[in-house]
Amino acid sequence: MKVCRTIEEVRAALEPFRAGTIGLVPTMGSLHDGHHALLHTAREENETVVMSLFVNPAQFAETGDLARYPRDEERDLGLARGDGVDVVFAPSVDEMYPPGFQTWVDVTELGSILEGQFRPGHFRGVATVVLKLFTIVRPTRAYFGQKDAQQVEVIRTMIRDLAFEVELRVLPTARDVDGLALSSRNSLLTPGERGRALGLPRALATRDRELALARLHAVDGLEVDYVEVADFDPPVLAGAVRVGSTRLIDNVVLEGDEE
Ligand code: AMP
Repeated sequence: MKVCRTIEEVRAALEPFRAGTIGLVPTMGSLHDGHHALLHTAREENETVVMSLFVNPAQFAETGDLARYPRDEERDLGLARGDGVDVVFAPSVDEMYPPGFQTWVDVTELGSILEGQFRPGHFRGVATVVLKLFTIVRPTRAYFGQKDAQQVEVIRTMIRDLAFEVELRVLPTARDVDGLALSSRNSLLTPGERGRALGLPRALATRDRELALARLHAVDGLEVDYVEVADFDPPVLAGAVRVGSTRLIDNVVLEGDEE
């Protein structure tokens, strides 16, 4: 497994494999079983697998949230190796946003509702970094989790609007045995907070906005940002809550085969 820090290095590493299929799994590290499922599927479907490891400052509005984001590169590289990743692209912030950087991708309408309303600029940061990863890696397929349903919708729209040639692969939300959606941020929860956080998947499991809101409001120490039906592909009931200083999102698919 090759670890590349610069755009030039990753391009050189991929040069010999351009004739075959390349799968890209973008991550911010702190890998868990949700990432593992993406890497595993990418490994099955492509000749070459690239994982990016980059905590993207442009998608964090609050510097506190960015500073608190869990990081453990050594562990992540070990897990990526175990999952058969060929190339890890782990650039510095300066490599991705060099001095003078000023070009942004904004999926205007989709990027400003739901999560976008509570995290202004978040999806602009996501779309920009994902497009930049696409142009660097030029993947045949790119892998994302349904856990971030609006992110998937934003990326799907960007790919369509900009006619980028890549196959978008979306995998179901991976959950802990108790139902909590796996998230790097879960490690920030105290045991008490984790118990309260379980209110979110339990509420969304009703698949009914009003019922879900009533259930969430009954949990002490859990602040609701929103619970909304979103007309994505597929439609979901999506929610975001704050427990202590940690913000969690989750969603359930409303039609077709649930995860
Ligand atoms: P992150 O490192 O949190 O930016 O996530 C990297 C990718 O993993 C994104 O496509 C996420 O949607 C996906 N992902 C994160 N958590 C989960 C989960 N619990 N189940 C499935 N995919 C996930």
